[in-house]
Amino acid sequence: MNLIVNDLQPSNANAVKFLSTKDKKMLIGANWVDAVSGQRLNSHDPATGRVNGTIPRASKADVDLAVKAAREAFEKGVWRNKTADERSRVLWKISELIEANAQELIELETLDQGKPLYVSGAEIYGAAAQFRYFAGMCSKIEGETIAPSINYQPPGKRVIAHTLKEPLGVVAAIMPWNSPLVLEAMKIAPILAAGCSMIMKPAEDTSLSTVRLAELILEAGVPPGVFNLVTGLGGEVGQALAEHMDIDKVAFTGSTATGRKILSAAQSNLKKVALELGGKSPTIVFDDAELDIAIPGAANAILWNTGQVCVAGSRLYIHKKVFDKVVSGIADIAKGMKLGHGLDPTTQMGPLVNKVQADKVKSYIDSGVSEGAEVVTGGQQLGANGTFISPTVITKVKQSMKIVREEIFGPVVVATPFESLDEVQHLANDTRYGLAASIWSQNLSTVHRLAADIRAGTVWVNCHHFFDASLPIGGYKESGFSRDCGMQAVDNYLETKTVCMVV
Ligand code: NAD
Repeated sequence: MNLIVNDLQPSNANAVKFLSTKDKKMLIGANWVDAVSGQRLNSHDPATGRVNGTIPRASKADVDLAVKAAREAFEKGVWRNKTADERSRVLWKISELIEANAQELIELETLDQGKPLYVSGAEIYGAAAQFRYFAGMCSKIEGETIAPSINYQPPGKRVIAHTLKEPLGVVAAIMPWNSPLVLEAMKIAPILAAGCSMIMKPAEDTSLSTVRLAELILEAGVPPGVFNLVTGLGGEVGQALAEHMDIDKVAFTGSTATGRKILSAAQSNLKKVALELGGKSPTIVFDDAELDIAIPGAANAILWNTGQVCVAGSRLYIHKKVFDKVVSGIADIAKGMKLGHGLDPTTQMGPLVNKVQADKVKSYIDSGVSEGAEVVTGGQQLGANGTFISPTVITKVKQSMKIVREEIFGPVVVATPFESLDEVQHLANDTRYGLAASIWSQNLSTVHRLAADIRAGTVWVNCHHFFDASLPIGGYKESGFSRDCGMQAVDNYLETKTVCMVV
């Protein structure tokens, strides 16, 4: 079977205009600049392999300049000394500008990452919602007054104390390629709400929409130097950020393997680190689930965004009594999905981000088959440049297989039957990851017991992929530490200072 992919270009006039300047620049201070070395990287349309444009290939010299600009902006207080109301208005303005330019951003994201328009749409509006939520947080940053029990206070005097919440300083955000703009918004909005300065480093495969976002951030009124953008390869510019002696924190979203490297590089100056990493999340379907909701829900849990989602429901545990019915229902949905170029509005599933990732996903499928697993549907690598994988459902797997243990990050789900609550609790937790899980059941006792016993940062019940700026998201175990979204996300970018005084 082959797949013919139309070579489509954006229809939005602003997106066409943006792409007419092929060589994109980085933002350092108030200036749009090339890399000091002058080197560039091509940025491809993953569906066709066509070059969309080029981005600067930054290195340590560029990182030094970006950190200098961010540090100067921080020290001068051009942002952190603004009132909460002033910062809030700017963040709100960013959300308005994202929505005003949504169609352009949606088409750019689709062209750069490959995802269908409806997925880009959800993400771009999700990015705007992040800025609105954190706009409201600027005025909720509060310390505490404390009554210390210190008993050597001078006679006639009092000891009183309070805490101040202060911006942490200069933060670097290093980001993945699967959902560029919305994941970046999850960092930028709380970092700016806290009053920090920052350097954004998007993934090398998907930097175009970030360049456009940087323009909107300046237009909204973020002072030059507060938000800086550097582009390039992880091992070069990412590593230089993680090692840098004048960065106070690295906020990273990406693979567990890279997370380990960042943690070790951050030892240079003991900078703080937040890691949002990989997952192998279970979708658990009980025999009392409403199957007309659970079957499409479990299919969407793995197939949304071509399975390139950190919280994808990639391990499916189904009660023995309904195993065949649920597997065939999900397989039917998978078979019926229309693959194609993301810019075609009828496309339901796009390509993987690049050939390397598609090859990796295919090799996982092949390894499962060689170990005795059975492909119910899918399993093919398609498209002229081999970036598509047909949605794949695999059964007859063992818990010890690589396809059950490792993150595949593609449209591939492995299904295993279970008989009891205790058994499925053990299976669900039998992983080094702990990012998310979903439980599909009508039984309150089942749901409450399992939701409490699963070791993961998010547990969904009768739903999956329900995200909101107000809901903290992050991992247990090797899925990382810290949380994006929710009230505590601003705390990630604040220091607590204790002021203790005798009066
Ligand atoms: P990746 O780890 O390969 O790359 C992420 C970023 O790190 C990129 O910008 C890359 O250039 C940079 N990088 C690479 N090597 C580096 C190094 N040595 N030092 C510093 N930076 C370096 O991840 P990816 O393949 O882009 O994204 C997919 C991964 O991201 C999956 O594992 C997925 O689960 C994870 N992810 C996690 C979340 C979450 O919230 N937990 C969300 C989305 C994606």
